[in-house]
Amino acid sequence: MDFLPVFMNLQQRDCLIVGGGEVATRKTSLLLDAHAKVTVIAPSLSDTMAEWLATGKLTHEQRDFSAQDVQGKSLVIAATDDEAVNLAVHTAATAVNIPVNVVDNPDLCTFIMPSIVDRSPVIAAISTGGASPVLARMIRSRLESLLPSAYGRLARMTADFRERVKARFSNPTDRRLFWERVLQGPAAEMVFAGRDSDAEIEIENSLNAPDAEQAENIGEVYLIGAGPGDPDLLTFRALRLMQQADVVVHDRLVSQQVIDLARRDAERIYVGKERANHAVPQEDINHLLVRLAKEGKRVCRLKGGDPFIFGRGGEEIDTLVEEGVSFQVVPGITAASGASSYTGIPLTHRDYSQSVVFATGHLKNGMMDINWPGLVQPNQTLVFYMGLVGVKTICKELIAHGMSKDMPMALVQKATTPEQRLFTGTLESMPDIVEREEIKAPTLIIVGEVVKLHEKLNWYNESKA
Ligand code: SAH
Repeated sequence: MDFLPVFMNLQQRDCLIVGGGEVATRKTSLLLDAHAKVTVIAPSLSDTMAEWLATGKLTHEQRDFSAQDVQGKSLVIAATDDEAVNLAVHTAATAVNIPVNVVDNPDLCTFIMPSIVDRSPVIAAISTGGASPVLARMIRSRLESLLPSAYGRLARMTADFRERVKARFSNPTDRRLFWERVLQGPAAEMVFAGRDSDAEIEIENSLNAPDAEQAENIGEVYLIGAGPGDPDLLTFRALRLMQQADVVVHDRLVSQQVIDLARRDAERIYVGKERANHAVPQEDINHLLVRLAKEGKRVCRLKGGDPFIFGRGGEEIDTLVEEGVSFQVVPGITAASGASSYTGIPLTHRDYSQSVVFATGHLKNGMMDINWPGLVQPNQTLVFYMGLVGVKTICKELIAHGMSKDMPMALVQKATTPEQRLFTGTLESMPDIVEREEIKAPTLIIVGEVVKLHEKLNWYNESKA
């Protein structure tokens, strides 16, 4: 190890920055975040620094650096573009053993500054020992996406309960187990979802529970929208919960690539539904989720797209509520959004469409239970989910209710996946296209003037071609 990572307490400590440019400004900003008392020695200051000076956040001495300036300082940073000055700062500081950092010159540093992810009081610091700042920044962005932004609040809440937890569990192992349950359980999830006061009640209840119940694992269900297929379209929260679940319950719409991102040793249960061939009835899925959660498992129920858009998420939650199982719903990118972006068909457009309707094209006994006059409105885009089998009916009814037979129409197969295909036509021509082509489910139907825009805006196919 070339450097020892430490976290310094600089609150109200005198620190020195030599230099007043952009780099010096960035370093000053960090020192101010750490509540240090900053003196800047520089002939001139950046605009930002001048503002800090005006608001009393720092002290400025407009002159050249001299060796005595380091006296009494807890930390010194040289950020000038004059090598001789930088060297002089280094020499003066090291002579009296004051930690010194010379920007972009590792040989003159007695400490280096890491890339940081700030979820105060939680801070992650990454260093490559100066070998590759770009790599450090890349690692930082990965950590940024892994550490929920609410970690800071969670840590502060933990601090509030610390003494009481100490009093409740005299044995350090019991204490550790208690905190592990809290930090990986429903209380933490409540904080992540912005429900801090519920989380406090949850911690309070766990604290007051009798010893016998402490070891019990309480299961939970995460109803997660997995997006339309491309794994890049998962949300950070979806990914995090997928990686902490004990069981993954998924259906046909969720792509294998997405399922692969779940925790490696999580049990996977397929409850896929083929059209007209319901593999597992909805009722049974609802009860399966309840049973797994009551066994103490963290259950990830993965749904294609968004769970609350034609996803029967509402029904699954109903049963959970009835059975007192805690849960959270994670929104996902719905097929309409995915298909729209990946084909260059905006769903609304200032000139062509002022509203968009998501409708189900599902046939029941050969019929579609839809308010057709409500759909046939000027300047409105229609998106049909589950409409492939009923495409003829859709076209026929829209024309019968007054829509022009030349209205543009698009059918998007497996949107956002490598098997995405786009078929465009009109209300009149689409049924023949569907008959002629071999189209694979799932497909989404878009009806409206906006379909015409795809030729101009379709970066996806072009970038693939
Ligand atoms: N909850 C999902 C929709 C479930 S209903 C969502 O928000 O997207 C199932 C229908 O969604 C399919 O019949 C199809 O119309 C549509 N669908 C889902 N994924 C799709 C995809 N990748 N490409 C095209 N259509 C898709």
